[in-house]
Amino acid sequence: MQEQKTILFKFGGASVKNAEAVRNMEHILNRQGEAPLLIVLSAMDKTTNALEELAYSYYLGKPDTPELFQKIKSFHVWIVKDLFEDQHSPYSGPVIQCLNELEEYLSKPSPGEKTPYDEVYDRIIPYGELLSTRIVSGYLEMKGFNHRWMDARDIIITGPPHRDATVNWDLTGKRIRERITPLIRENTPVLLPGFISGTVDGKPMTLGREGSDYTASILAYLLNANRCVVWKDVPGLLNADPKIWPHTEMIPRISYWEAIELSFYGAKVIHPKTIKPLQNKKIPLIIKSFLDPEGAGTIICEDTVQMNTPFYIFKFQQLLISISPRDYSFIAEDNLHVIFGILARHNVKANIMHNSALSFSICIDDDAKSGALLQDLSEGFIVRYNSGLDLITVRHYTQEVIQELTNNRKVFLEQRSRNTFQLVLQ
Ligand code: ASP
Ligand code: MG
Repeated sequence: MQEQKTILFKFGGASVKNAEAVRNMEHILNRQGEAPLLIVLSAMDKTTNALEELAYSYYLGKPDTPELFQKIKSFHVWIVKDLFEDQHSPYSGPVIQCLNELEEYLSKPSPGEKTPYDEVYDRIIPYGELLSTRIVSGYLEMKGFNHRWMDARDIIITGPPHRDATVNWDLTGKRIRERITPLIRENTPVLLPGFISGTVDGKPMTLGREGSDYTASILAYLLNANRCVVWKDVPGLLNADPKIWPHTEMIPRISYWEAIELSFYGAKVIHPKTIKPLQNKKIPLIIKSFLDPEGAGTIICEDTVQMNTPFYIFKFQQLLISISPRDYSFIAEDNLHVIFGILARHNVKANIMHNSALSFSICIDDDAKSGALLQDLSEGFIVRYNSGLDLITVRHYTQEVIQELTNNRKVFLEQRSRNTFQLVLQ
């Protein structure tokens, strides 16, 4: 069956951060032995952050909205001019149209409280991916790379909530069979924006920040792809963030299971929802560098080989909260039930939990939500806390590694299982 041969390429924001990067992307597409049939692309560089700022400002009706829009526009026009030499080249037509569309939307007064912010957000944010794919599509066309551009808002069908849309697998599968499969049968590559989706009746939605990986995974799953390649600015998966930990190592191969564990603890491996669909159909995910396309990269697959390299995940600005019942009652189901209810209400995730007879401790990210959470917890419990802590998780730890990490530092909490060591320290 033709679908069995489908190869999917996903390019992140850094791989299209300027005109030079777009040219490099075209080289990769042309130079690969087997051409990809599906290409999923993120917004260029930090465009999504800039659009978030714009959406918020527009929603609140702030006067700097036009200026924020102009910045986004100039950035894209700068790339267009470099690639096509002329802003008015026929290849840039859809890009300019896209910018005009956004400008027109922003020229109308903000709906204010009549429409929830998240809905307005999902109306504006997709322009990052729409613009990047329109630019790349124009460039590929100019270079004679046969392909078809498609709007993912008509293909990936989702339901609520806005900003973290839920995939309707049946309807998405149907759209893919109707619109993408025929093109793949005739070997025409399809280029789509990642991260964005739409409701059945055509309202735009998004899949959550960094969601383009997930788009690639949804498409790979529904098309029974042969493999999915994610192009990044790192040679593959490293065992720590090189900005934090100096002696990093490349991991050539890991299992889906391990990849899910790592993203659970906060490693920025890949968008957390991405792995499951791929695992379910045993589709390998390959992480490669667009700066070194010949490099082997990392393969995430159904692997049973035991991993031995320690893997470090650092989280800073942690708040360790210890919660005790006022009446000296034990920490048991009833108290835990109340505590978890409060955490859920504040949408706070416990990064680590620990309980003793009379107190329950959690470590959380210390952000804008912490104050209100502490306040709420204090109403029913005695609450103590320490702020400014680090949470370090080590998978596949050794005694030497733990020694090195704890050297001269005050440890507030430690927890170990067979494979994972977690430390909260100052
Ligand atoms: N452009 C979106 C973001 O930056 C989606 C992605 O990059 O995957 O969050
Ligand atoms: Mg991005």
